[in-house]
Amino acid sequence: MSRLVYADNAATTQLDTAAFKAMLPFLTNEYGNASQPYAFARKPKKALQDARETIASCIGAAPEEIFFTSGGTESDNWAIKGSALLNVCKHAVVTSAFEHHAVLHPCQVLERSGYPVAYMRPSQEGYITAEILKRYMTSQTHLTSVMFANNEIGTVQPVKELCAVAHENGSLFHTDAVQTVGHVSINVHDIGVDMLSASAHKFNGPKGVGFLYIRNGLKIMPYSDGGAQEFGLRAGTENVAGIVGMAVALKNNCDALEENTRYVEGLDSMLVSILDRSDIKYVRNGGTSRLPGLLSLSFPDADGGAILHRLDLTGICISTGSACNGTSTDISHVLQAVQLEDRYAKGTIRISLGKANTEEDVEAIVKALMKIFRT
Ligand code: PLP
Repeated sequence: MSRLVYADNAATTQLDTAAFKAMLPFLTNEYGNASQPYAFARKPKKALQDARETIASCIGAAPEEIFFTSGGTESDNWAIKGSALLNVCKHAVVTSAFEHHAVLHPCQVLERSGYPVAYMRPSQEGYITAEILKRYMTSQTHLTSVMFANNEIGTVQPVKELCAVAHENGSLFHTDAVQTVGHVSINVHDIGVDMLSASAHKFNGPKGVGFLYIRNGLKIMPYSDGGAQEFGLRAGTENVAGIVGMAVALKNNCDALEENTRYVEGLDSMLVSILDRSDIKYVRNGGTSRLPGLLSLSFPDADGGAILHRLDLTGICISTGSACNGTSTDISHVLQAVQLEDRYAKGTIRISLGKANTEEDVEAIVKALMKIFRT
């Protein structure tokens, strides 16, 4: 059996060891409910407070602007539905055609209840520019939602500029930063964003936990009604262990951000330079502003699904840019949005390298690709 080469860090990441250790007491002895007034609840309550402060400091927010959720999907749903349903005067949403389904599907729910939603087409390089956004803004636009970085092609959007355009036109601005938080330096107050979604398992935290940043003073509908948790806006007993793990993982990633970026970019360049020296024909999708370590590669006239399965047989985990459905291979909505030619789109794979990958992993990936393409 070949050793595992995990190169799908945009799908999920390995849990940080320190985060795991920090979670353990709250899964065992410290099981008190943080909402209770007695002494046994003090530790979990304090742990939640500390986690909120740590997370806030990692993204330049205030602690009361951090709302714990069950992950990126919940944060996106809450931001979109929670802000749209509150405003009765203006009710149009502008988003992009290459958002994650956690944004697109709630937008489609709004559409079905009569909200106009405009889906901006990104440039062929994979960017929503300020000029593109300006064309879609109307006096009715209540919410603009553009992802910070695309999960398939890794392009990092000019979020600060987009946010300024939205505000100039009287719209709120939300960004799905699930692929970005913990990997790119973010200061929410500097960007001026109203809401920002994040998910712990994308930055070496545990699965099933995340947060939504909601700017101080911004009113949105509660996500759930019941208890008074999360300042009365998201009822439900908190996932204390998950939240503690998320804070430790985020702090560790943010403290080592530059070092991690340099390291992963080194692996990224190494992979590209070995590929370039081979006879394999390919194009790399996305322009120059990209997430470190995310390579969307298209091999003309190849089948991305088949490449994934061949790599899987040698213990290498990557992902495709297409969703396979039995007999036919559908081209993903992201690759369609950037208008990638079909013969390239069908042969697209996503390799996402992380801080735990090594040069040996990169060599193994390229070697396996060479075997597939027999160069
Ligand atoms: N948004 C983006 C850009 C993502 O990449 C993902 C997960 O792949 C999500 C949202 C959903 O996050 P979660 O898995 O935490 O629900």
